Amino acid sequence: MISIKSDAEFAAMRRAGRVVAEVLEWARTAVKPGVTTAELDAEAEKIIRSRGATPEFKGYRGFPASTCLSVNEQVVHGIPGKYRLKEGDILGFDVGARLDGFVGDAALTIPVGKVSREAQRLVDTCRECLDRAIAACGPGARLTDIGRAVQTLADERGYGIVREYAGHGIGKKMHEDPSVPNYVDSEVRRHDRTLKPGMAICIEPMLNLGGHDTKVLGDGWTVVTRDGTLSAHFEHTVAIRATGAEVLTVL
Ligand code: MG
Repeated sequence: MISIKSDAEFAAMRRAGRVVAEVLEWARTAVKPGVTTAELDAEAEKIIRSRGATPEFKGYRGFPASTCLSVNEQVVHGIPGKYRLKEGDILGFDVGARLDGFVGDAALTIPVGKVSREAQRLVDTCRECLDRAIAACGPGARLTDIGRAVQTLADERGYGIVREYAGHGIGKKMHEDPSVPNYVDSEVRRHDRTLKPGMAICIEPMLNLGGHDTKVLGDGWTVVTRDGTLSAHFEHTVAIRATGAEVLTVL
C-alpha cells in the first residue's frame, strides 16, 4: 500500500530532509584523503542529533552505523570503519534521518581529491540520471518513466545499472511501497504505478563502470560489483505534489 501524505506531513518530511541535506553538504568538504570512514560516520551522527533528529540507519535491521559509506567497487550499504580514504577513491555517502515521525533519505557520491576521468564521468552520469529521473516525476507520471529516464542515459554511456536494489516509497518508514527500479523490463512494467499527489519516493540510481551484477560481502551488508569495477550512487527523497515533483532532501 502506498501511503498518502498531507501538507502537514510533507512539512515534517521537509524538516527531516533538510537534516539529511545538511549532512551531505558538510560531507562534500569533509571527505578528503586521510580521513577514515568511521570518523565521517561519527561526525554525521553528531550533526543529525544536534538538529533533534535521529539517524534512521543506526540499528535498522541491525545496521551498526548512522551512514552507509561505500568506497569504489562498493555499491551501497558499506559499513563505516577503519578504512582511510585516499586520493582517487570515490565515496558513496548515504544518510537517513528521522524527525517528527518522518524520514528523509539521500545519497551522493563524492570524489576523494582528484579522481580518474573515467571515475568522474561515472559519478557525473549517475548524478545526471537522478536529475533526469526527478524531471520525469510528477502527478500522472508512471514509475516506468523514472526507470526509463535512468536507463536511457546509462545505456548511452555503457554503464551497468544495478538491478538487485531500487528506490522506494518513504514516509513514516524508510522503506515503503512502491519499489522504484532504475530500469524497465516486462516484470517492472507489470508492477507499474501512476504517481499521485501525496506520494513520496526515494529515487536512487546505482551505476557500475562494468556489468550490473552485484554480490554481498561476508559482513552481510556491503554490496559490491561482482566484476570489481567502480560504482556510483545518488539519491533524493521526492514528494509528488499536485503542482509537480518537490525534492525534500535539500537545504
Ligand atoms: Mg534509500
